[in-house]
Amino acid sequence: MTSNVLVVEDEAALASLLRYNLEAEGFSVTLASCGEQAEQLIAKNHFDLIVLDWVLPGVSGLEVCRRLRHNAPTRTLPLLMLTARGEETDRVRGLGVGADDYVVKPFSVVELMARVRSLLRRAAAGHLGDVLTSDNIVLDRDAHRVKRGSREVRLGPTEYRLLEAFMESSGRVLSRGQLLDRVWRQASDVNERTVDVHVGRLRKALIDSCDTDPIRTVRGAGYVFCERPDGVA
Ligand code: CA
Repeated sequence: MTSNVLVVEDEAALASLLRYNLEAEGFSVTLASCGEQAEQLIAKNHFDLIVLDWVLPGVSGLEVCRRLRHNAPTRTLPLLMLTARGEETDRVRGLGVGADDYVVKPFSVVELMARVRSLLRRAAAGHLGDVLTSDNIVLDRDAHRVKRGSREVRLGPTEYRLLEAFMESSGRVLSRGQLLDRVWRQASDVNERTVDVHVGRLRKALIDSCDTDPIRTVRGAGYVFCERPDGVA
């Protein structure tokens, strides 16, 4: 089955570049150059993923995103935001916007395609909903809250994103490099030791007196979250 991707981008050259590369990967691509056009297309067609630019003429990408999230049929539609550096990125990162992922301009096409594939994989696995659950741990993206059993778990923003990455890849080993990429993006002031420090903090917050440790360190490979006895997620 071909995945239908809607690209909402007013810069014609960038829109064509995105179309060319997405089509080369076998996606069926529709272009929209403003928010209003995007909303009309979404109302009449089925899309598997939306690539949405933040800065658009008329209705902004941010507003389009908000409207999609308040509308039942499009609440969990996979959405990748294109942002410029700075304030926009901080706001997308703050998770208040409702985008499932974002790419900062200028981006490499290779990175964007990797994000698109990852987002479609997460969507296929049912990992884009508002609530992620692994055993007795529940992460509610809407409320931005984490509970273990009946206990509320308080996490800093980095530990929250780390847990989110773990829960999306439950049962699979994530290397420190993959975690750096998923949680810290290309921040220059972090290294693999940073990952260990934050995993330590996350563990501490998740483990109460009688809880088990849901994160296992795999020597030489990274970490695995909520591993099943047979190793299958
Ligand atoms: Ca733009």
